[in-house]
Amino acid sequence: MTSAIVATGISKSFGDVEALKALELDIPEGAFFVLLGPSGAGKTTTLRVIAGLETPDTGTVHLTGIDATKATPAERDLAMVFQSYALYPKQTAAENIASPLRARKLPKSEIDAQLKRVSELLHIEELLNRYPTQMSGGQMQRVALGRALVRDPRAFLMDEPLTNLDLKLRVEMRTELTRIHRSLGRTFLYVTNDQVEAMSMADQVAVLREGTVQQVGSATEIYDHPANRWVATFVGSPRMNLLKCTANGRLEGDGWTLPNPGFGIQGERPALFGVRSEDLSLDVREESASLAGKVYAVEPLGDRTLVDVEIGDQRVIIKAAPTASFKIGEEVRASVDLDRVHLFDADTESAIA
Ligand code: ATP
Repeated sequence: MTSAIVATGISKSFGDVEALKALELDIPEGAFFVLLGPSGAGKTTTLRVIAGLETPDTGTVHLTGIDATKATPAERDLAMVFQSYALYPKQTAAENIASPLRARKLPKSEIDAQLKRVSELLHIEELLNRYPTQMSGGQMQRVALGRALVRDPRAFLMDEPLTNLDLKLRVEMRTELTRIHRSLGRTFLYVTNDQVEAMSMADQVAVLREGTVQQVGSATEIYDHPANRWVATFVGSPRMNLLKCTANGRLEGDGWTLPNPGFGIQGERPALFGVRSEDLSLDVREESASLAGKVYAVEPLGDRTLVDVEIGDQRVIIKAAPTASFKIGEEVRASVDLDRVHLFDADTESAIA
């Protein structure tokens, strides 16, 4: 498949801050590609380098196979949607959306046709005559998107465009964006620090930390097979349980042993055993793959109950049924789903298995 955007060896420093460190990205044509990372990871800087708004210290940017490292933002033909809506306050929604077309001096009939297409796509036909002050945050967001969408650029770059919306609107807009992406068939490069947003919309996710890509894959690949300890605990809520142990075929930690974890480790090494809260169960059937502990805390959340269990000198969170009732101090056994466990090297923190 051809690549829409390829960033190779991109480094960028601001004074002492190394925002990007030899960053590599390869974004397939037509993908909904999400750049996920915590605040300060370098997501915005990556978008700005790709858009040509920031010059990298080293590295190249290729757009559909052509070296665009030195191209101006306009030559790159990319539309950028920012976190702030940046609408013109004295223009109606229709005028805001049409402004890129007017700037290109297109005939009125064509502007009207484009406006119709985009407003139907975004369900904003009834908003076209309103001014920004007469619209909700979500409506302004859709108008801002509309202004990007009329341009029909090579790709869309979106920088946390849903962060200012309330939860309900954000969930609605996620669905809308996925739908728009399908109907346009264009490449979307979308930046967020919200893993649910990333997981729900992306064909592919690149997880970014401190200016480097930690892992690229589908949402499921990253959730099920995190490449290292950091990705494992960054993605997923509650975060993945990690227990210090010695791995030598079996796993031994403080107060627990798993005789047959199925990892096939050669020799003995210090490791971190990882298991997500939904892959532990307090409904024990098989003693051989279980950890004994004591209930430390119980948190009922309506749709599930989180049970915090002390195992030796460490603790794990276990997702239990909403009706589960456990007493603090109660002795329990948590069975482990051995098909869904992880092992990380204690020193490098990379996944061993
Ligand atoms: P957020 O989610 O908070 O927007 P981000 O992942 O987009 O974060 P960037 O905005 O790319 O992160 O910033 C990466 C690092 O570079 C941060 O440490 C930031 O403070 C720094 N940085 C970014 N732009 C500049 C600038 N113009 N001048 C100085 N430092 C900058």
